[in-house]
Amino acid sequence: MSGHVFRVSEVVGQLRSLGVEAGGVLLVHTSFRALRPIEGGPLGLIAALRTALGPDGTLVMPSWTDDDATPFDPATTAAAPDLGVTADLFWRQPGTVRSDHAFACAAIGPKAEAIVKTALPLPPHTPDSPVGRVRDHDGQVLLLGVGHDADTSLHVAELLARVPYGVPRHITARADDGGPVRIDYRENDHCCQRFALADGWLRTRGLQAEGPVGHGTARLARAQNVVRLAVDALRDEPLLFLHGAEEGCAECDEARASVNG
Ligand SMILES: [Zn+2]
Repeated sequence: MSGHVFRVSEVVGQLRSLGVEAGGVLLVHTSFRALRPIEGGPLGLIAALRTALGPDGTLVMPSWTDDDATPFDPATTAAAPDLGVTADLFWRQPGTVRSDHAFACAAIGPKAEAIVKTALPLPPHTPDSPVGRVRDHDGQVLLLGVGHDADTSLHVAELLARVPYGVPRHITARADDGGPVRIDYRENDHCCQRFALADGWLRTRGLQAEGPVGHGTARLARAQNVVRLAVDALRDEPLLFLHGAEEGCAECDEARASVNG
């Protein structure tokens, strides 16, 4: 980690150089650890993202929980730890709107309600989920210090391509009488490491910008392009995103075993 502390204005410049569109919809997955130090910490990064988007832009971050035993409360439930400190601070900021279900995103800007206020999507990342709606709004996906293994839009592509795998998952929701109720579902889940294939698909077509943000590396692509290229690849090879049986990945093995289950 270099000692240089990036000023918010410098980060805004980096985001604009990368191609973040003023007035657009931007879904951000981030590892602040890979970018720091930035003036103001994660809140400084959020300020830079909002400045780059301008008043007509809408900033979206994942905000779901990994707690499957407690009903989700948008006012109190923490974001899953693997989403990072920036995502967990973002939904707590004044003016931010958050979905009212366990597979939440949070957003701020003119399209925030239209993107995050969905019914409970099952499985979590359907085309009508918050992440799916970023694609509907021709949003950009920004990966800050993380790769496509963190790119949830690829789960939307899996569902559009009707991949044959799905592993058992459940959440606990709030029933009409206020009590907890368990909801079981099948999810197109696995280790996600092979989502990194999207780098090659996007790069060869000139559809991904890459450059520095803070001290980290950023990737920027349109959600529609990410999803379209993945759907095309999955139609040729539906298990493309799963590690091979010989590779010893327990999560991908479970997904593979579900195909005929
Ligand atoms: Zn795997």
